[in-house]
Amino acid sequence: MNFRELGLDEKLLEGIDSMGYETATPVQAQVIQPILAGKDIIASAQTGTGKTAAFLLPIIHKMLTSHHAAHQINALIIVPTRELAIQIAETMEGLGYFTDISCIAVYGGGDGNSFVTEKKALSSGVDMVVCTPGRMIAHLNMGYVKMKEVNYLVLDEADRMLDMGFNDDIMKIISFLPKQRQNLLFSATMPPKMRDLARKLLKDPVEINIAVSKPPEQIVQQAYVVYEQQKIPLIKFVLNSKDYTRVIIFCSKKQNVKQLTAELKRAKFSIEEIHSDLLQDKREKVMQDYRNKKLKILVATDILSRGIDIEEIELVINFDVPNDGEDYIHRIGRTARAESQGTAITFISEAEQRKFAAIEELLGKQVDKILVPQEFGEAPAYSPRSHSASKNGGNRWQKRR
Ligand code: AMP
Repeated sequence: MNFRELGLDEKLLEGIDSMGYETATPVQAQVIQPILAGKDIIASAQTGTGKTAAFLLPIIHKMLTSHHAAHQINALIIVPTRELAIQIAETMEGLGYFTDISCIAVYGGGDGNSFVTEKKALSSGVDMVVCTPGRMIAHLNMGYVKMKEVNYLVLDEADRMLDMGFNDDIMKIISFLPKQRQNLLFSATMPPKMRDLARKLLKDPVEINIAVSKPPEQIVQQAYVVYEQQKIPLIKFVLNSKDYTRVIIFCSKKQNVKQLTAELKRAKFSIEEIHSDLLQDKREKVMQDYRNKKLKILVATDILSRGIDIEEIELVINFDVPNDGEDYIHRIGRTARAESQGTAITFISEAEQRKFAAIEELLGKQVDKILVPQEFGEAPAYSPRSHSASKNGGNRWQKRR
């Protein structure tokens, strides 16, 4: 499903485009419409499924298309950790870039200056607040937070918040909110205490369950942590390291598929590209040659990550980190079909480290990082956290006003 079909505001579609999202992930396809229709939601969806945009997009759309009082908080998102607060505020910054909706991340552990900035935003009114519970209570206790116009409440990673003992804090924050509002509850798991919270909070909710399957055990998953410019020399090295009979290389964008294929053709690899710009005839011919082993390597966008069923693909290479965890699982699932062994290697550039860490979280394990051979020069360290926060902590309220 594409985002235009969902009837989202043009300014929002521009933001989506600039983030490089082309189609809705399964959780987005399921929750955006009910949220637009004003329903309460309880969704079990993990990090890596695109759940942040699943609630931000319809909320932004509703904020753009309905009236709300100026200088009042309109949407409140409560999350367990500062990292998640920053990450959501950053996603908001991207998706909402062409709108004038203001957003601030409110979390503990910062310096005195950040408290003052938060206080200023909360008392003069910011449209959207993403907060950790303890810090929000500290502000609420001071009496200047404008909560009377909160129309949307999101609890994200609610199971983690309960595990961390935030139940009372959450209920206290909610006691400041108007009774009439839309409630959205996201949680990776649904233990009984989550059901209790849902019963207390939600009215006639739509229940959504995004079950993410794990990749088959027999796939050997590996990754190279590299600088972007090391990817091409390294992929040539990997392809030359063994006489592979069938390889698929995935790229997220058509443009990258075309460039990489041209580059590898020049290096005389038996390779073709496949993506939605190709005429049907050409696509079929390429697939046939690949099936018949006339062609060894395919370079594809994610259109091939679902559905194709060709046995004996020995190696899947992710030339870039897929945008969400499910695409990763679908991509690497092209190898090791029918119980055979297969290898999946992902190239992670510095800018992609955080995205890959979200995928590892979804997988519930770390993927082995292989050493980049010395001949390619020094490679970056894998430290996704240090690549996570923008300098201002995703605080666009500071930027805009
Ligand atoms: P989340 O589960 O919200 O942490 O999102 C995981 C990753 O998926 C983030 O890097 C998002 O930017 C990315 N993402 C979310 N929605 C889409 C989409 N529709 N298309 C491509 N990437 C997406």
